[in-house]
Amino acid sequence: MTEHPTPAASSPRLRVAPSPTGDPHVGTAYMSLFNLAFARQQGGRFLLRIEDTDRARFREDSEQQVFDTLHWLGLTWDEGPDIGGPYAPYKQSERLDTYRPYVERLLEDGKAYYCWCSGERLAQMREMQQKTKQPTGYDRLCHGKTREERAALPGFTDKDPVVRMLIPDDAPLTFDDLIRGTVAAPRPDDQVILKADGFPTYHLAVVVDDHEMGITHVVRGEEWISSTPKHVLLYQWLGLEPPKFAHMPLLRNADKSKISKRKNPAARLTWFKEEGYLPEALVNFLALLAYPPVLEVDGTEREVFTFREFSDGFDWKKVNPVGPIFDLKKLDWLNGVYIRELDLGDFTSRLLPFLERDEVLSGNPSLGELGRLKAVAELIQTRIAHLTEASALVRPFFVADDALEIAEDARGQLKEDAGQVLDAAIAALGDIDDAGTGPLGSDSGFNAAAIEASLRESIVEGLGIKPKFAFGPLRTAVSGQRISPPLFESMEILGKTSTLARLQGLRDSL
Ligand code: GLU
Repeated sequence: MTEHPTPAASSPRLRVAPSPTGDPHVGTAYMSLFNLAFARQQGGRFLLRIEDTDRARFREDSEQQVFDTLHWLGLTWDEGPDIGGPYAPYKQSERLDTYRPYVERLLEDGKAYYCWCSGERLAQMREMQQKTKQPTGYDRLCHGKTREERAALPGFTDKDPVVRMLIPDDAPLTFDDLIRGTVAAPRPDDQVILKADGFPTYHLAVVVDDHEMGITHVVRGEEWISSTPKHVLLYQWLGLEPPKFAHMPLLRNADKSKISKRKNPAARLTWFKEEGYLPEALVNFLALLAYPPVLEVDGTEREVFTFREFSDGFDWKKVNPVGPIFDLKKLDWLNGVYIRELDLGDFTSRLLPFLERDEVLSGNPSLGELGRLKAVAELIQTRIAHLTEASALVRPFFVADDALEIAEDARGQLKEDAGQVLDAAIAALGDIDDAGTGPLGSDSGFNAAAIEASLRESIVEGLGIKPKFAFGPLRTAVSGQRISPPLFESMEILGKTSTLARLQGLRDSL
């Protein structure tokens, strides 16, 4: 057992300890956020530990996904498997030698014992206990027996034994929680701490590592409350100072069921990235789950805030232990707010991965394409709530005029006068002088204001068609869609030649 200096009380050390069992759960981000907020406020450290002792549930790519999604959210760690640190390694499968001496000590002190019961025996025992309505739990058949003594009895397995905790009758069942005050948990079973494969179980590994890594505050989900008495016992038996505990509420659906990866796509962290949420919006959203908005000096509440503001005002007492409802409508709203706050260049570059994914642009767009994209981005920034919505709006600006597809619903909306409207627009716009075209048509005569004036004159006034109906066919002609960025600006970006070609294209197809 290595002795590390105990960190000064003034410098807390916190950790998030996900198990790499698949696509990371949104709860991992939620835990990381609250751990990190407190660590930063206190000038402490936040570390990432990978708890991969459950080899049956281990997924190869999961660890990298944990790194990627937490980095994406800006919830970054000071020590971890990818960056190292003074307590490395930070991955439990690489720490097997660390746990051994602790197990030996517990065995020597009579706090733990070997168990050779076969899986079948344990299953039968459980079944019997359930049938006869007895409390379930290991019946201690192996306790106090040598291997030979035990081998003489039924239900023995030849494989390596597991090691179990010998939970005493007077095991303490309450503990202090920073969020919940005194918490009572049920009496634990004789928990396995070392498995036959030589790996520790979570319960032993978490206690050993939190101690070895100098963790001062264990912040985790409420599903671990029932395990805490086992952990407290292990600290006691090993003569170690336990950390402080804070058990965060579980995130819930509107029907109060818990968010699960099986049922909710939004339980997967990668989902948010795929769906075009901004990381800063998701962080803000998570900070509002079971936690109040920022209180202004004048007493009003503000729901949009930065991580820094959250961290500066952080207080465990403000956490509501009742499971918060995971309301995606709120996240959609926040995402729109954050999208509108981005500066145009930033917004434009955040669209690129989606445009590439949807094959609107290549992964390596030209300067000209980027310039055009920026002009389009300005038109759509106030109109979308998810970055994924951009592709449909942007695509018409990057297809050849003769390759523009007219959506069925857009064509279906065209009235009888569509041909007349298109003819009038072609004539009117054809008269605009587009000399002096800048790279974005910015200093061209063919600009939004001139286009609007000319179309109003020729169609609204000239043909007496109300604006509401006048511009529908034109929108369909230039974008192929019923919904598009503002029409006159779109025409300006496309330029005169393209605009006229598209108007003519639709006219010819009527
Ligand atoms: N490995 C556990 C999990 O995946 C960590 C629990 C804890 O933070 O103690 O949730």
